[in-house]
Amino acid sequence: MARTTSLIVTVIGCFAVAVWAARDGKPDTQKVFFKGNLHTHSLWSDGDDFPEMIADWYKSHDYDFLALTEHNVMATGEKWVDAATNKTREDAVTKCTKRFGADWLEKRTVKDRPQVRLKTLAQVREKLDTPGKFLLVAGEEITHKFGRLPVHMNAINLGSTIKPADGGSVAETITVNARQVAEQKIKSGREIITFLNHPNFGWGVNADDMTTAEELKFFEVYNGHPGTNQNGDKDRPGCERLWDLVVTRRIKANRRAPLLGLATDDAHNYHINSIKSPTPGRGWVMVRATSLEPEALMKAMASGDFYASTGVTLENLNYAKKVLGLKIKAEPEVTYTTTFHATLKDAGPDGIGLVVSTVTGSDVAYEFKGNELYVRAKVTSTKKHPNPSFADEVECAWTQPIRP
Ligand SMILES: [Zn+2]
Ligand SMILES: [Zn+2]
Repeated sequence: MARTTSLIVTVIGCFAVAVWAARDGKPDTQKVFFKGNLHTHSLWSDGDDFPEMIADWYKSHDYDFLALTEHNVMATGEKWVDAATNKTREDAVTKCTKRFGADWLEKRTVKDRPQVRLKTLAQVREKLDTPGKFLLVAGEEITHKFGRLPVHMNAINLGSTIKPADGGSVAETITVNARQVAEQKIKSGREIITFLNHPNFGWGVNADDMTTAEELKFFEVYNGHPGTNQNGDKDRPGCERLWDLVVTRRIKANRRAPLLGLATDDAHNYHINSIKSPTPGRGWVMVRATSLEPEALMKAMASGDFYASTGVTLENLNYAKKVLGLKIKAEPEVTYTTTFHATLKDAGPDGIGLVVSTVTGSDVAYEFKGNELYVRAKVTSTKKHPNPSFADEVECAWTQPIRP
């Protein structure tokens, strides 16, 4: 399992951070890191496999939790899909039948077309949830746009579907939909989080929009879909740069909302292995929580006690006494370089998100000097990503920005 022992969480300033409190050298078993992907599509929307097959893939690949996040729907009620539209669909049916048995898929024929019925989230959970080992969490990709600009937001641990609401601008579109999620959270009493997906997809959301939309607390700093302009282009910033811009602007404008970064798969294709296709296993979050339950996971994320990864695992992550420390789980013959990114208080436009320290090794730290608006760490390994979404991708991890 993707677990390491861990620690206590606290909130300092407006940025949530995890604090290392190793007690007399004994590991604190109260909290552990759980590995999860919070952005996945199945045949309930535009993914090309059955939800149970996808859940089975994640479960057998060392994930602890998974959210199915279909476009504007949740996997409830009755839905039938054609069983033989193309080779991919035929393969999907064959593989699912082989894995779960001949009686598993309910079948019918409509106007000479064979169809199969999709399992609901509840049915998939009944089959694949294993207490303490694997958990499916309800979700939705609230899929909307302002004019032609895509605005997609995931909501996790929802109780019911949210219909996308219109806003008068990109920022307002984010805000009104984040408010819908917040309303459901209050009414239902559930812990629900919402995050902005792939801001650079269709160049829909820029740093100004993200700065203004203060309800926005999370975004995807990494999305494994190769069509999302993850790294920007020659004129537009990549997602990591957007992060520094937004965090800096929010702090300078005296806004209290942090912006926390996730890595996700945004997986759609499960029958192909190609750098050009959105396949599973590219990016995930490691959430430090008391238990593998939706409420505990969402609470931990809301407090900022998680990091984003595309392969690098942290054995520990702590912020105490103005020192940000990371212990990296080192693999043989892999070198880890940690860059600490900060905007200093007196920085001009050229001083946003600069690297203030670079440390090699598996046990690294940054001591705050007192002149930083925030600091965040990125670990870059020399290990090539086994399933990259862009050329020459290497495994990385990103910790959340800390405001001292
Ligand atoms: Zn999307
Ligand atoms: Zn998506």
